[in-house]
Amino acid sequence: MPYRSPVADYEYIFENVVPLTQVSGTDKFAEADADTVSAVLTEAGRMCDDIMAPVQRNGDLTPAYLENGKVRTSPGFAEAYKAIAEGGWVSSSANPEFGGMGLPLTVTHAVNEMMAGACLSLQLNPLMTQGQVEALEAHASDALKAIYLPKLVSGEWCGTMNLTEPQAGSDVGALASKAEPNGDGTYSVTGQKIYISWADNDFTENVVHLVLARLPDGGPGTKGISLFLVPRHIPDADGAPGVANSLKVVSLEHKMGLHGSPTAVMQFDGATGWLVGDEHDGMKCMFTMMNNARLGVGAQGIGAAEGAYQHALAYAMDRKQGRSPIENGSGAIVDHADVRRMLTSMKADIFASRAIAADCALSIDMGHATGEKDWRARAAFLTPIAKAFGTDVGIDVANMGIQVHGGMGFIEETGAAQYARDVRVTAIYEGTNGIQSMDLVARKLMDGGDAAYKLVDDIESFAEGIKGDHPELAEPVWQASETLREATEWMVSQGALNERFAGAVPFLRGFARVLGAHYHLKAAVAEATDGPRTKLARFYIKRLLPEHAGLFTHAMAGAADLYALSEEDLAS
Ligand SMILES: Cc1cc2nc3c(=O)[nH]c(=O)nc-3n(C[C@H](O)[C@H](O)[C@H](O)COP(=O)(O)OP(=O)(O)OC[C@H]3O[C@@H](n4cnc5c(N)ncnc54)[C@H](O)[C@@H]3O)c2cc1C
Repeated sequence: MPYRSPVADYEYIFENVVPLTQVSGTDKFAEADADTVSAVLTEAGRMCDDIMAPVQRNGDLTPAYLENGKVRTSPGFAEAYKAIAEGGWVSSSANPEFGGMGLPLTVTHAVNEMMAGACLSLQLNPLMTQGQVEALEAHASDALKAIYLPKLVSGEWCGTMNLTEPQAGSDVGALASKAEPNGDGTYSVTGQKIYISWADNDFTENVVHLVLARLPDGGPGTKGISLFLVPRHIPDADGAPGVANSLKVVSLEHKMGLHGSPTAVMQFDGATGWLVGDEHDGMKCMFTMMNNARLGVGAQGIGAAEGAYQHALAYAMDRKQGRSPIENGSGAIVDHADVRRMLTSMKADIFASRAIAADCALSIDMGHATGEKDWRARAAFLTPIAKAFGTDVGIDVANMGIQVHGGMGFIEETGAAQYARDVRVTAIYEGTNGIQSMDLVARKLMDGGDAAYKLVDDIESFAEGIKGDHPELAEPVWQASETLREATEWMVSQGALNERFAGAVPFLRGFARVLGAHYHLKAAVAEATDGPRTKLARFYIKRLLPEHAGLFTHAMAGAADLYALSEEDLAS
C-alpha cells in the first residue's frame, strides 16, 4: 500500500476538534477558509504521496555521502526537493512580501507532518529553512532580509542551524565558537560545530548557516552568545552566490537512521558573517527558530508514526497466520486480537498527538493574530508537549509497526525498520525530550500554573458539559482532568526545581494522555453516531487513558528515590 497523506483526518480535526474557524476569523488569516485550506492540503498531499514518498527508501539504502568536500545526496532527492520548492512548501507561512503564501502555521504544520510521513530525511531540509526564515523575519536587518529571504522562501537556497559543539550539547551556553568584528559591519566567525543537519547538498545554489558564537566581550553562558548569518557563498552585488566563504564540511556522521539527511561536522575558519539581532542576544533570536523547530520536530514524529502505521496495516491485512478467531475474518493476521490491539493503539495515539500538535500550531497563530497573552501562553505550554509526545508516539508506533510485521519487521527489505531508525533521533534533537519535560515543569509553570490550569479547565468543562449525553466516554475524561489538576498543583507547589525535574517526563506524558482523551472526546461528539471516531475514542479512553494515573503517581514521587542508589550502587 503506497503512503497516503492524512488529508481527511486534518480536515476533520480542523472542522470539529481544533476549529480552524478561530484562525480564519482573524483579520490576519481571513483567507484561510475551510475550502482554501482543503485545497492546499490536497495539493500538498498529492506532492507528498506521488513525489516524496517514492524516494523515502533511497535515503536509507543510498545515504548522502561526502565527495571531495561536497555532499552528494540520495538518488531522487534533488528532483523531490525541486517539487517541494516549486510547490511553495519550503516556507508556506512566510510573509508574501518575500514570496511566501502567508498561510497560518496551523496549515504549514499539517503539510510538514504529511511531508515527514512521506520522507522524513528529506523533509528535515525545508524544516530547517522554515525556522531560519522565521528567525530572519523577526530579527534580521532589512538589508539581510532583502538579500536572503526571497531566496530561502523560494527554496533556491536553504538554511541550517549551528548550535551544537562537542562540549556544548544540551548546555548550549558552553559553546566556544568565536566571532570578531571586521570593522566593516561584518564579522569573522571561527569554530567547530557538530551534528549539523543538511549542512550542505547538491541541489540548492547556496546554503545559509545561522551560527551561534561569542564576541570578544561576550560573557560566559547563554547571555554572552550572538547569532550570525554565514552563507556558504557570499552573495555578489546582484544577490547571486559569489565567492566561497571560509567554511567547510569536515565529515558526515555514520548514523543509526535518517541516512538521507547529511549530518555534518562543520569548520568555520574566519568565515564572513553578519550579525542577526543585537550583540549578545543570540539565544533570543535562536529561540524563535528553535520554537518553530520544536513543533516541527513533533510533526516529524507524528508523520513517521503515520507512515509506519500505514505500512504495518498493509502487512497485517495481507499476511496469513493461524486460524481466524472471528466470524467472516479474512484469515490475515489483522483478525487476531493482539494485532488489533497494536493497530488500534497506533491509530489512537496518532490522532491524539496530531490533535495536540494542531492545537499548539493554532495557538501560535492566534497569539500572532490577536496579540493576546493567553493564546501565547497556551502555545508556549503546548510546545514541549507537542514535541515530546509527538516524537514519543513516533518511536512507539514505529516500534509496534515492527512487531506487527513479526520477523519481517526485523528484516530490512520490508522497510518497517527504517521508520523506527529514522524517527529515533527526533526525541534527541531540538532539545531532548527530557529537556522538553524540564522546560514544561519549570519555565512553563512560572506563571503559577495559569496556562496549565486553563487547559485543565477546558478539558474539565467540555467533559462536564456532555456527561449527560455521553457518560461512558465523558466520565473517565472528567475524572482524569481532576487527577491532572492535582498533579499540576503538586508540581507548582514544589519550590525545589529538582523535585519537579524528577517527575518531569511522566508529568508531560500524563498531561498529553489526558489532553489526547479530550480531543478524542471532541471527535466522538462531533460524529453524532457510534461511528469510527467514537469507536476509536472509546478505545483510547478505556485502554490508553488509564495510564495517566500511574504516570502522575510517578511524577509526584519526588527526587529522593532517584538518588537513593549511589553511583557505586548503580555500578554494582
Ligand atoms: C542526527 C542529528 C541531527 C542533529 N542536527 C543538529 C543541527 O542541525 N544543529 C545543531 O545545532 N544540533 C544538531 N543536533 C544536535 C542535537 O541537538 C544534540 O544532540 C542534542 O541537543 C543533545 O545534546 P548532546 O548530544 O550533547 O547530549 P547531552 O547534552 O550530552 O545529553 C545526554 C543526556 O543527558 C541529558 N541531559 C543533559 N543535560 C541535562 C540536564 N541539565 N538535565 C537533565 N538531563 C540532562 C539529556 O537529556 C540526554 O539524555 C543533531 C543531532 C543528531 C543526532
